[in-house]
Amino acid sequence: MSKKEKKRILIVEDESDLRKTLKYNFKEQGYKVNTAADGPTGLEKARAKNPDLIILDLMLPGMDGLSLVRALRQESDTPVLMLTARSSEMDKIIGLESGADDYLTKPFSLGELLARVRALLRRSDRMAVRNVLASGGVELDLISRRAQIQGRPLELSPKEFNLLAELMRHERAVLSRDLLLNRVWGYDYMGDTRTVDVHVRWLREKIEADPAHPTLIQTVRGVGYRFDSGSPDLDQQDDEE
Ligand code: CA
Repeated sequence: MSKKEKKRILIVEDESDLRKTLKYNFKEQGYKVNTAADGPTGLEKARAKNPDLIILDLMLPGMDGLSLVRALRQESDTPVLMLTARSSEMDKIIGLESGADDYLTKPFSLGELLARVRALLRRSDRMAVRNVLASGGVELDLISRRAQIQGRPLELSPKEFNLLAELMRHERAVLSRDLLLNRVWGYDYMGDTRTVDVHVRWLREKIEADPAHPTLIQTVRGVGYRFDSGSPDLDQQDDEE
């Protein structure tokens, strides 16, 4: 085990009782904790304190959690766990599409929150150390930009590589065509979202066992795409350590 530094968590939550409870409990668990009670302060502290993870309430005064995470994603990959009192499916999709990494509906148990936070931190540690995305037999080395499938070299165009990396980085989250277009092609790209569909088709031909019945890159009708290898969660395997 490498030497452990205390991880810093930023809690952005306007309900003061919940904010204090979370702060107390995360400190008890050995984390450094910063807090903010509204959106603008949350964004300011996210920039100033450089936290390892942000717990972000959806409904906040000043600037809601979605706007905050969108603003943050322009400049950082800090894992964000979104809290919300609303539980409809659409909210879940919006939450993940916005760039949040995970999502928890209030009321939640503290144990559940701690487990999710630990899982997100482990995931970001692994990515920081290895700079490799690996799932479902697909492996992307983000530094050398080499791709492999089942251990064999996989030829991808730069756009295909970036699109697959974006999907794998947020495994199991549904990403909309607009979001993928913005992240992979850039905000100033003049093409439309069919560009995304075309590149997904090309990717499927390269990585799916049966491109007509894709299992890795799944279409979520009316919304977008999701990468899901269906393999057991690595984070759960880590619990065996
Ligand atoms: Ca709130």
